[in-house]
Amino acid sequence: MRVAALGSGSRGNSLLIEAGSTRLLVDAGLSGRQIQRRLAALEIEPASVAAIIVTHEHRDHTSGIGVAARRWGWPLYMSRRTATACRSLLSGEEEVRVFEREATFRIGGVEVHAFLTSHDAADPLAVTLTDSESGLKIGVATDLGRPTGPVRNALRACHFLVLEANHDDLLLRDGPYPWSVKERIGGSRGHLSNRMAAELAAELHHPELGGVLLAHMSEECNDGPLALRTVAEALSGMDYRGLIDVATQERPTPLYDVAALRSRVMDGEQLHLFAGGSGRT
Ligand SMILES: [Zn+2]
Ligand SMILES: [Zn+2]
Repeated sequence: MRVAALGSGSRGNSLLIEAGSTRLLVDAGLSGRQIQRRLAALEIEPASVAAIIVTHEHRDHTSGIGVAARRWGWPLYMSRRTATACRSLLSGEEEVRVFEREATFRIGGVEVHAFLTSHDAADPLAVTLTDSESGLKIGVATDLGRPTGPVRNALRACHFLVLEANHDDLLLRDGPYPWSVKERIGGSRGHLSNRMAAELAAELHHPELGGVLLAHMSEECNDGPLALRTVAEALSGMDYRGLIDVATQERPTPLYDVAALRSRVMDGEQLHLFAGGSGRT
């Protein structure tokens, strides 16, 4: 099973997941051109992608869903309320596969479990994706103000986690936004801070966790090394030896091989790779 962020941040999010011959995107908040370019950088043909799972209607997750669905025929999986909220983005030609909130369904060789997060959208979801062949499980939780009990439960026993580390509390407090925006970002239906991401990662740590990718970083109120350090400190207290990296807005991350990371961690190797921590993103 492999995973890469095509891009992540308030200007556009899209994640590629591969399990056997099944490839999926979680969100498509980049232009059709950028999606094509970034897939090409990872040597992925658009025709090989089976579908897009849409987590919520915010534009940084959906701006490319209409064009991508029409250009490449990718079906869009979204909850009923999200589909309604996305109506203006779609022409009616797209194939939309609606599910009820908090659903479990299968796309090719991937079992998808979608569950509600605390965020100011119609039906905001996080997902886990399990490879039905290998049993490997990837958890994806961005756009959440707080890691609620159901989210923490659903993310247990993942072999790779994509977690939001949106802002540093002090940089948000002292940053350029008006007070109302700061309240929204830092509020319980906003975005997860580095500190809360670190606590969540430490809580979810287990001996088979091979990688943690930090995502949806604020360009104004965070920086890569700070987010990495905050989460790495919490995880090193748990004796975590796996990969920690940060997804950026401008370019895709490498394709991480989840099985290989898991085996290397279980073999006792010290991975802690900070290669993607490229400063401000
Ligand atoms: Zn977002
Ligand atoms: Zn959002």
